[in-house]
Amino acid sequence: MTPDLFTPDCKFTPYWWDRVPRPGSDAKTLPERADVVVIGSGYTGLHAALQTARAGHDTLVVDAEDAGWGCSTRNGGQISTSVKPAFDVLARRHGEERARAILRDGQRSLAWVGEFVGAERIDCDFRVVGRFHAAHNATEFAGLARRVAGQPKGLEVATQVVPRAEQRAELGTDAYWGGVVFLQHASIDPARYHQGLLERVLAAGAHAVGRCEATGIEGGKDGYVVHTARGTVRARDVVVATNGYTGRLTPWLRRRVIPIGSYMIATEPLPEALMARLMPKDRIVSDTRKVVFYYRASPDGRRILFGGRVSTNETDPRVSGPRLHAEMVKLFPETAAVRVSHSWCGFVAYTFDELMHIGRHDGIHYAMGYCGSGVGMASYLGMRLGLQVLGRKEGATALDGLAFQTRPFYTGRPWFLAPSVRFYQWRDRQGT
Ligand SMILES: Cc1cc2nc3c(=O)[nH]c(=O)nc-3n(C[C@H](O)[C@H](O)[C@H](O)COP(=O)(O)OP(=O)(O)OC[C@H]3O[C@@H](n4cnc5c(N)ncnc54)[C@H](O)[C@@H]3O)c2cc1C
Repeated sequence: MTPDLFTPDCKFTPYWWDRVPRPGSDAKTLPERADVVVIGSGYTGLHAALQTARAGHDTLVVDAEDAGWGCSTRNGGQISTSVKPAFDVLARRHGEERARAILRDGQRSLAWVGEFVGAERIDCDFRVVGRFHAAHNATEFAGLARRVAGQPKGLEVATQVVPRAEQRAELGTDAYWGGVVFLQHASIDPARYHQGLLERVLAAGAHAVGRCEATGIEGGKDGYVVHTARGTVRARDVVVATNGYTGRLTPWLRRRVIPIGSYMIATEPLPEALMARLMPKDRIVSDTRKVVFYYRASPDGRRILFGGRVSTNETDPRVSGPRLHAEMVKLFPETAAVRVSHSWCGFVAYTFDELMHIGRHDGIHYAMGYCGSGVGMASYLGMRLGLQVLGRKEGATALDGLAFQTRPFYTGRPWFLAPSVRFYQWRDRQGT
């Protein structure tokens, strides 16, 4: 590891936290009762809370850490249509009609975030910049081009195929074999978005209490008692919105999500001319590797924010930082001398069918499992979940009622993760 790879004041917290003051320790005492208790204060929890609070229901949001401490203020700020499985895979599993509806919900989630931040006037650098999805080998490029040409009827999205010879117009590297631009995909400052959302939830009359881990849920159809680090609260409805941080509180859910660390760095500011060469169109970028790298410019256009997974087991941002830097330099040799100013990580939640899930178990509402693409979907499903708590038919989604699978002997510790990552990294290297 190169010690001076980090700037002297390098922070091991998200770059985004510099731009939004983090809420401090909250000494608030808990109310004795609430209509709705929401556990987890990321996009899922807050969007659910916004719906219930605006409908006049007494709503309490608790988080084990400060509000928004989880992925919702740590992510890459890339907004896509979120649904990973392709149409034919979904159609095989769930029938054509359901497959279409699921993919439409994904498309809707992308558009909906833009509509939401616009209507609420949340100042969070939301921009429809388009995603350059880069092919890491020739076979992947051919596959991408084929899929774009054969998009299922009625589900077509605006795309532009970019052959390798024209790639430099999108991205300052020759390391890829061309790619596809998804023109509607967007970028956002995730923490400013979260902060704006939190302010609206509080303005709607909800309470948010940080450093208040929920430790137990008791009860049934006549209501619940939620035990927390700060006392107990009675609630008519409970929403669990803990995604990659789902733990002992909800063993049934814990057996259904696979927590996986995702790692990011921010560089120190780069010269303007270099940024213009590397990211000429300010696109968000991802690649076709199974163990994907994703990156973009910071909203002020000065830095590269580079993310991915660079270890088989979970590791420390002091270790992942130099490895991510090395991957960035492979793509952009001109950044070899550029230092890292921030290195951080967070836990996303994968699922066994690569779909996000929304529903009720033992009467408790939940939405989670965004498989690393949750800015759009966590927002959208959180909103729908809030409507479901209110019993409104607009809360319906295409994901309702899908079986939330687990596997025998899986209790929430993904022992299979390291060998799987090793295998996928090996496979990603084939044909490059
Ligand atoms: C490094 C990184 C990059 C990413 N990049 C992107 C991207 O570019 N685009 C994209 O779409 N998605 C991205 N994601 C994923 C996205 O951020 C998440 O899918 C999304 O934020 C999930 O929101 P959430 O509200 O469900 O969960 P979170 O925001 O993770 O919130 C869950 C909260 O639950 C709390 N909690 C857990 N247990 C308890 C308990 N017992 N009591 C009280 N509170 C509890 C936690 O403290 C946490 O604050 C990224 C994630 C990471 C980590």
